[in-house]
Amino acid sequence: MSIQQNLQTRVRALLDQHDPATTDPQEFLGARFDAGLAWVHFPAGFGGLGLPHTYQAQVDAHLAAAGAPPAGGGRNIIGTGMAAPTIAVFGTEDQKRKFLRPLFTGEHLYCQLFSEPGAGSDLAAVATRAVRDGDDWIVNGQKVWTSMAQHAQMAILVARTDPNVPKHVGLTYFLCDMRQPGIDIRPLRQITGEAEFNEVFLTDVRVPDANRLGPEGGGWRVATTTLNNERVAIGARTGTPREGGHIGRVTEAWREQPALRNPAMHDEMMRLWVEAEVLRLTGERLRQQAATGQPGPEGAGMKVAFARLAQQISGFELELHPESGLQYDDWTLRRPETVDLIGRGPGYRYLRARGNSIEGGTSEILRNTISERVLGLPGEHRVDKTAAWKDLPR
Ligand SMILES: Cc1cc2nc3c(=O)[nH]c(=O)nc-3n(C[C@H](O)[C@H](O)[C@H](O)COP(=O)(O)OP(=O)(O)OC[C@H]3O[C@@H](n4cnc5c(N)ncnc54)[C@H](O)[C@@H]3O)c2cc1C
Repeated sequence: MSIQQNLQTRVRALLDQHDPATTDPQEFLGARFDAGLAWVHFPAGFGGLGLPHTYQAQVDAHLAAAGAPPAGGGRNIIGTGMAAPTIAVFGTEDQKRKFLRPLFTGEHLYCQLFSEPGAGSDLAAVATRAVRDGDDWIVNGQKVWTSMAQHAQMAILVARTDPNVPKHVGLTYFLCDMRQPGIDIRPLRQITGEAEFNEVFLTDVRVPDANRLGPEGGGWRVATTTLNNERVAIGARTGTPREGGHIGRVTEAWREQPALRNPAMHDEMMRLWVEAEVLRLTGERLRQQAATGQPGPEGAGMKVAFARLAQQISGFELELHPESGLQYDDWTLRRPETVDLIGRGPGYRYLRARGNSIEGGTSEILRNTISERVLGLPGEHRVDKTAAWKDLPR
């Protein structure tokens, strides 16, 4: 039996035994995980079958067509897109067993405790301290821009464990339980009126050493894996069909508004459509390349292109709604259930797209990454690579 036939048989058996129309979504996702169909490229027993990543799209498409719930219940982008691939690479057998399944079912929603008031683009500068105490670490500090912390059961956390060494080598990466004393989550309101993200204060928070991902002091390498996956997760979303996402909303409006079409608008519409399709296909290729290992700095290019295009498309969409485009439907403070890049109206899309060139690394920083790590151009002048973190000006 070919790999494809084998996968089809497994998918059919899963659907026969767990009809998505009548099965609780978490139960369905648990059964999918146990059948090795969560991430086919993950090892057997951990949601996968040890197959090349290229087969995943086929499984996702079959299950979506049958009405199956999406990975993580559709609300766990940080879990499925960033934490899972990092745990798969750096986790111990125990950690993979403990964390991957509830992450995939959406029982454990994840948030990302990386950015701080003094450490965003320069993530290696984080000041949140983790100090060893027996089998635990005690964590104190402040994080910021933490998307969906209000719903999260777990967080991926980067903290400073040794201030006496240079900044990149004194960091350690943890999986932190968000439902424990000492974690204070406060909403931050965005330009859209919503508070999708938060500031998070950590006071004497206990993280067991068993939740350390990778070696003590090795957090930078682990975090880089997360960031490379984040750029692919944002820039090359899985399963976007042709004319899906931002461009889908605009083509709909375009078809409904023949009166607005003039040659200049027509040219712009065609340019955006073609660029969106090129980006979608490039994203597909990028995800397939990742089959041979973890995504590298190439994801930075994808993310820069996605952000630029999302801002251009959502700007063009406003021109197609000359009367109502800038009328915003609701300015009350809302706490959304999930990160929504394209939902609601054109005004929301236009405003939300401003964040696309900041979240997951700003476009300026990603251009630096492309120039240094993809094109091999000379690096930025850095004076703080060898000094101990505690001696750096802050
Ligand atoms: C919608 C949204 C959601 C987010 N969600 C999360 C989350 O869940 N978890 C999390 O940890 N973080 C999150 N972030 C934070 C995001 O990762 C940071 O905002 C981003 O990395 C930039 O950091 P900063 O805000 O500190 O800006 P700064 O680093 O202070 O940068 C300010 C400006 O200076 C520029 N700049 C800085 N350094 C350089 C340089 N060396 N060369 C050229 N230009 C430079 C930047 O490009 C930027 O324009 C989110 C941000 C947004 C907008």
